[in-house]
Amino acid sequence: MKIKDDIIMRKRGVFNVEIKVDRNLCIGCGACIALCPNIFKYGSDGKSEVKIDNVTNINETDKECVKRAVTVCPVKAITVNE
Ligand code: SF4
Repeated sequence: MKIKDDIIMRKRGVFNVEIKVDRNLCIGCGACIALCPNIFKYGSDGKSEVKIDNVTNINETDKECVKRAVTVCPVKAITVNE
């Protein structure tokens, strides 16, 4: 059932991905937040956190943005699993 749902979502241009920020590594530089404001925000401690939840449905543009954020994060705190 899940595979079928994933195929339907991909046809609609919606992707189910797991996005995580390791807050022990994050230094709060803001790069990911500036790059992908739809996905990341500052937490109350000044570190990045995922805006919606850790497993979310995002569109192609935001998915590509998250992939770029993974590469620009200076401490490799962001992981994304499709
Ligand atoms: S780019 Fe990395 S270090 Fe900078 S705020 Fe985002 S998660 Fe934290």
